[in-house]
Amino acid sequence: MPGASPWLTSEHEAFRRALRTVVERELAPHADEWEEAGIFPREIYTLMGKLGYLGLRYSPDYGGAGLDFWYTLILAQELVQCGSVGTAVGLLAHMEFALSVIDARGTPEQKAEFLAPAIRGEKIASIGITEPGAGSDVGALRTTARRVGGDWVINGAKTFITNGTRADFISLVARTGESGPKGLSMIIFPTDTKGFRVGKALRKMGSHASDTAELFFDDCKVPLRNLVGEEGKGFGYIVDHFKGERLVISAFALGVMDRLWQEGTRYAAERQLFGQPLGKFQAWRHRLADVRTIIEAARQLTYWACDRLNRDAPDASLAVSMAKLFTCEQVKHVANEIFQLHGGYGFIEEYPVCRLYRDVAAFTIGAGTSEIMREIIAREAL
Ligand SMILES: Cc1cc2nc3c(=O)[nH]c(=O)nc-3n(C[C@H](O)[C@H](O)[C@H](O)COP(=O)(O)OP(=O)(O)OC[C@H]3O[C@@H](n4cnc5c(N)ncnc54)[C@H](O)[C@@H]3O)c2cc1C
Repeated sequence: MPGASPWLTSEHEAFRRALRTVVERELAPHADEWEEAGIFPREIYTLMGKLGYLGLRYSPDYGGAGLDFWYTLILAQELVQCGSVGTAVGLLAHMEFALSVIDARGTPEQKAEFLAPAIRGEKIASIGITEPGAGSDVGALRTTARRVGGDWVINGAKTFITNGTRADFISLVARTGESGPKGLSMIIFPTDTKGFRVGKALRKMGSHASDTAELFFDDCKVPLRNLVGEEGKGFGYIVDHFKGERLVISAFALGVMDRLWQEGTRYAAERQLFGQPLGKFQAWRHRLADVRTIIEAARQLTYWACDRLNRDAPDASLAVSMAKLFTCEQVKHVANEIFQLHGGYGFIEEYPVCRLYRDVAAFTIGAGTSEIMREIIAREAL
C-alpha cells in the first residue's frame, strides 16, 4: 500500500487522513482558480493556522505542536494533492523554510513577535537568501547589514523569494562582516520598514499559485535585536536549516509522483485503443512497472532520510541530499512517462499531468540544485 511504512505510526496515519479531508474540502475545489490568479488567498494561512498546521514541529510555548518531522513530511506530501503545487509551496515556504531558524535560534522576544503570529497564520513569512548574483554560491551573498547606532542598516537585493509580494517579515541572510560564509548573519526583516520595495512578481513556468518576487533594500533600518542567534553564524544556521527544506521538497516530489501514478493508471484503464484499454499493452505495462518501482524507491529513500533527520543523526545531511537528488530527478522522469501515456491529452490544461509536468521542473533547482546535492553527497560519502 503506498504510504505504508515501518516508520509511520497509527498517529501519523490518522493525521494524514484528517489532513486529506481538509485538502479535499478547503483547497482542491479552488486549485484551478488560484493557479489562474497566480496567488492563493491570504485567508488560507489563517485557516491552516487555526487548524494547527503551521506550527507542527515548533514549541507549544508559541502555539506550535512540538511534533516530529514526519508530520511536516506528510503535510508536504498531502498538500500537493490539492492540484496546486504553488499553494503547497507557499504554505511550506512560510511554515518551514522561513520559520525554522527563528524557532531554533530566536530569542523569546523574537518568537513572541514573529514566530507566534506566523504559526497562527496572521503574519506571512519568507526566507530571503538568493540574490541576482548568488544562488548556489551562498558564501558570495552581497546584501549588507551594517551596525549604525542601535540599528542594522540594510542595502542590497534578493530574488526568487517565495511569498515575497506579501510577506510581513523575511528571515533575511545578509553580510554583517568579512567576505565569504563567515561574514553572514540572519536578521528578521519586517517588510513595513522604510526603504524596502517589492520589485516585480516573477512570471514562472509552473507553481503559479505561489508568488515569487524580487526584493530591494535601500538604507533600511532594522533594530539590532532582530539578529537571529549570533552574528557571523548565519551560514551555519542555513546549512542546518536546509536539511528540513530539502526533505520537504523531496516530500513534494513524492506526493506529485503518487498523484501522477493515480492519473496514469486511471487513464490507462479508461483509454481504449485498438479494441483494448491502453493499460493492457505490454509496452505500457512495463513502463508503468518501472514508474511504480521508481516511486517506491523514492518513498523508501525519503522516509529513511526523514528518520535520519528526526534522530538528528550524523548522516542526516547525506541522507536528505540523496533523497532530494533522487526524488526530484525521478519525478521529472515520472511526469514525462505519464505525459507520454496521455497522448495529446497530456498537453491539454484540463488534464492534471499537464500542470504537474511544469510544476516539477523547479524541484531540481529550489533549496539547492541537483548539482549541489551531488557535491554534498560526494563530499560526505567519498
Ligand atoms: C520557484 C522558486 C522558488 C524559490 N524560492 C526561494 C526562496 O523563497 N528564497 C530564496 O532565498 N531562494 C529561493 N529560490 C532560489 C533557489 O534557491 C536558487 O534558484 C537555487 O539555489 C539556484 O541558484 P541560481 O538560480 O542562482 O543558480 P546558479 O547558482 O547560478 O546555478 C546555475 C547552474 O550551475 C550549477 N552549479 C552551481 N554550482 C555548481 C557547482 N559547484 N558544480 C556544478 N554545477 C554547479 C547549478 O546546479 C545550476 O545548474 C527559489 C527558486 C525557484 C525557482
